[in-house]
Amino acid sequence: MLDLAIEGATVVDGTGTPGSRTDVGVRDDTIVAVGDLSREPAGSRLNAAGKVVAPGFIDMHSHSDWRLWANRRAESKIRQGVTTEVVGNCGFSPAPASTEFLEDLRGFALYLPAGMDFAWRSVGEYLRAFDREGTALNVVQLVGHGTLRIAAMGFARRAPTAGELSVMRGLLAEAMEAGAWGLSTGLIYAPGSYATTAEIVELARVAARHRGFYASHIRGEGATLLEAVAEAITVGREGGLPVQVSHVKAAGRPNWGGVTRALALIDAARGEGLDVMADVYPYTASSTTLRTLLPDWALEGGVDAMTARLADPDTRARIRRELEAPVTGQSLLDRIGWENVMISYCARRKDAEGRRVSELAATRGMDPLDAALELIVDERGRAYMILFQLDEADLRTALVHPHVMIGSDGSALAPYGELSAGKPHPRSYGTFPRVLGAYAREERVLSLAQAIHKMTGLPARRLGLRDRGVIRPGARADLVVLDARSVADQATYAEPHRYPTGIEYVLVNGRFVIKDGEHTGSLPGKVLTPP
Ligand SMILES: [Zn+2]
Repeated sequence: MLDLAIEGATVVDGTGTPGSRTDVGVRDDTIVAVGDLSREPAGSRLNAAGKVVAPGFIDMHSHSDWRLWANRRAESKIRQGVTTEVVGNCGFSPAPASTEFLEDLRGFALYLPAGMDFAWRSVGEYLRAFDREGTALNVVQLVGHGTLRIAAMGFARRAPTAGELSVMRGLLAEAMEAGAWGLSTGLIYAPGSYATTAEIVELARVAARHRGFYASHIRGEGATLLEAVAEAITVGREGGLPVQVSHVKAAGRPNWGGVTRALALIDAARGEGLDVMADVYPYTASSTTLRTLLPDWALEGGVDAMTARLADPDTRARIRRELEAPVTGQSLLDRIGWENVMISYCARRKDAEGRRVSELAATRGMDPLDAALELIVDERGRAYMILFQLDEADLRTALVHPHVMIGSDGSALAPYGELSAGKPHPRSYGTFPRVLGAYAREERVLSLAQAIHKMTGLPARRLGLRDRGVIRPGARADLVVLDARSVADQATYAEPHRYPTGIEYVLVNGRFVIKDGEHTGSLPGKVLTPP
């Protein structure tokens, strides 16, 4: 007997082929039947006529590992239909941690919920601590290179000694044995940015021996985009492992059109036999910490050292000179423009949230760079910004590329409690419904089946997850029931804390987490271990 029969829906199975009308049967945590189930006895039946049933979505690029400690219901993600998140991206993960450099790691963290006590040291200890309380969706953990580097050598701005490199390699090997899926880098973020390609290749080889992959927030997404993509490909070639270029984009108006060239490099690498793919979020604004605007030397020694340094007028003058100096023909400030920088989150300066830096500076009678530096100091490096600096045509180019999948680059937030703070990028609430509604249904940039494939079968292929991302007998019962006519994002830059519409039922490991559009409170997700 089935536990559940989902009847009469159009089943879009995640492989990219168009949907067909049939039934899906679930027993325990597994899909056991696909076909006419009208005569099969079932504990419960869900009439899904007129709806689409898809595999649960896999968010290939998430930062929820921090926020899930504050709220295990994963509200803003599960309500989009996300049933698995890949976390530990951009070089940041909460483990491994070393006692010696624990304070550096806490300073590196952008958000520290009360539950995150850093009682762990290894990734294995971390995953066990995380899994103890349960979570609404499944988690795939990567090991952040920035975190590894801090554990071995703090915020030192130099190459590691042989001893420090061997500590990093050992911590990474231990993490891979304990259930991590690969290595991530954030090469625009100190201390990851202090690493050479050779250092990353050394670590990639360790991940490769454990059949892991390499996900990279590459070293430049603007004027140096192509060199940065080439570096990621070099790591794949020399390290001997698959490469995932994170949130592919060409930042800054002078660089628009660059996504086509970046994807051509990826195609050429694939032609060479390398397994290189990318992910993208469906917005033309990016978001990161305000301190990312600083030259990376400003973070040497950690966040406290940075704050102290910014108090010095000579240092400020040097920062201004560097930001105004052209790199490959453009200065950072020219290519962005302060009117395109919106402050999205501050712990203290709530007056700044939702406002452009140009506007903040004007009301305070200050130069915009000084206003930005003042905020970095006031917020001790934890202010966030949204940068309106991407091209719609580039986004569409990425969305239709056969080896580009969907990743939000957001976190599991909630419109209540401590996760409702600020005006965060709407991608944390809207990524998946936006692809399905705005880009598949309305703009017809891609078909519904293609869009779903980029959220299910394709990321599952990247991860080597054989039993998820697809609807077939034997696969895990991670499922979404959605209304293809009404699915849409509702979150905006002005009002980001809004759930999408059209996601009606979400099952994780065979259990309803969303039922009739409401959260059941169920926490059936788990930390997934590599095959
Ligand atoms: Zn990133």
